[in-house]
Amino acid sequence: MKAKKKDRTQREKALSLLKRKIGAEAIRTDSKSLFEASLDNARLSFLPDAVIFPRKEEDVGALLKLANRHRVPVTPRGGGTATTGAASPVQGGWVLDLTYWRSVKIDAESGMATVQPGARIATIQRAAERKGWFYPPDPSSIKYATIGGTIATNAGGMSGAKYGVTRDYIFGLEGFLPTGEKVRWAAGLKKFASGYNMRDLWIGSEGTLGVITKAVLKLIPKPQARWTFLAAFPKEVQALRAARKLLKVPLMPAILEFLDRQTVQCLENYTAKPVFKAAPNSSLLLIELDGHEAQIAEEKEVVMQWAYEHASHFREATSLEEAEELWAVRRVCSQAMFQMGDAKLNEDIVVPMQSYIPLINHTLKLKRDFGLATPTFGHIADGNFHVHIMFNRGDKKQARQAEKAIHALMQKVVSLGGAISGEHGIGLAKTPFLRLQHNRAEINTMLAIKKALDPNYILNPGKIFDPYQVWKKEPAKVRLPWDHRPKSS
Ligand SMILES: Cc1cc2nc3c(=O)[nH]c(=O)nc-3n(C[C@H](O)[C@H](O)[C@H](O)COP(=O)(O)OP(=O)(O)OC[C@H]3O[C@@H](n4cnc5c(N)ncnc54)[C@H](O)[C@@H]3O)c2cc1C
Repeated sequence: MKAKKKDRTQREKALSLLKRKIGAEAIRTDSKSLFEASLDNARLSFLPDAVIFPRKEEDVGALLKLANRHRVPVTPRGGGTATTGAASPVQGGWVLDLTYWRSVKIDAESGMATVQPGARIATIQRAAERKGWFYPPDPSSIKYATIGGTIATNAGGMSGAKYGVTRDYIFGLEGFLPTGEKVRWAAGLKKFASGYNMRDLWIGSEGTLGVITKAVLKLIPKPQARWTFLAAFPKEVQALRAARKLLKVPLMPAILEFLDRQTVQCLENYTAKPVFKAAPNSSLLLIELDGHEAQIAEEKEVVMQWAYEHASHFREATSLEEAEELWAVRRVCSQAMFQMGDAKLNEDIVVPMQSYIPLINHTLKLKRDFGLATPTFGHIADGNFHVHIMFNRGDKKQARQAEKAIHALMQKVVSLGGAISGEHGIGLAKTPFLRLQHNRAEINTMLAIKKALDPNYILNPGKIFDPYQVWKKEPAKVRLPWDHRPKSS
């Protein structure tokens, strides 16, 4: 009790010092601002004491120095789209919001972009494309996610197998250590081999090792053309086998999305229209080729031949409108699933190619064993499957079954040589499974790094390492900007 009171007094003192240091107008404590900063897409709400909108670099350093001295937790925040609770200030304190820092400068000669952390991915992509360049990392949240957040989570997307993930496009980072000192990891250079590669340590560290205030990104020439294709298969096993055959040609599509029959059933109910009239409730593969026209023409032949041999039905897009129609199938999947339950545990596991079929069979076994729907789709050129466990939150039995099902899923994934997360990271939601993935030596190494950089454990504390049972916390009822589903669900 005494310790808590001392803590509170320390935090109040630190906040009034911060006001003096960076100006009261940079600090919000009204209930609306506190609530908005209290959660991310996982909807696990923990109210901070204040939300800070620093105006200049020195303010970030000053804030961290004060927080470190007075032991105030600080949670960096971008667009708040994380699906794991990574941006929830689980221990209160200050949320450091950098979304107003949005400048994007394209160097068309060098093929680089220098960006501030709050720049949204869609804005960076548009700015690059205006100059004939391309920034490929493409999480489906591009309209809302920031470059700071996507670097901190090493976000991926559908085209990861061909183009890589965020990590593959970072030349240099600048920012502040948890203790408030300014650092620059690598630089605006295409090569850099001086000292430890601290840049890569920050990427994917979920805002626990430093605050990113600037990034230099790699751009590549924009592919000239695209071709979109959708193929149906009677069962998942056929779709997955066929996908492996296509990759083995070898051929690397920009997109190779798999949809299982549970997902397709949801979307066909949702749109009241079968994707393929003659073959409703099929498993699907959405394919997109990109590159030069001549290269696409050549690869298209290969895909057509492959489809005749393996698919039951298929359709190619001959215009942008038709491509958009094929894409619409994939875009409604997530929202369509809520007819199978009002809550979902959304996993982003990865398995090696040889384990695709055992994995999909396991999702069907979970469905049978726990009586819950397990619709699954994924970016299968890189083995990244999104397995969803659907349940009704108000139904205590279903909630317990969901918890058991997720444990069984993660155990299976690791036993298949897979990973518990391929792109969303650990945050709070995956903490119970970290020890399935890593042995003691690995976790101790990570903790030693955390301790060395953040001795007072103030930067995004409670994330990655401290087991947190996400299913025990009632999620906040809130509509977020990227939600499409009806208010009632
Ligand atoms: C509809 C939807 C679709 C999605 N699709 C994908 C997808 O296809 N692929 C994918 O990988 N993810 C996806 N996500 C998850 C999410 O978009 C990503 O994790 C994204 O990288 C988070 O970016 P953000 O700006 O919203 O960061 P936030 O959610 O605000 O924060 C995420 C993490 O980054 C840290 N952070 C933020 N800014 C900084 C900074 N400047 N310095 C240090 N740390 C910082 C935070 O502390 C937190 O740990 C999706 C989410 C939604 C809602």
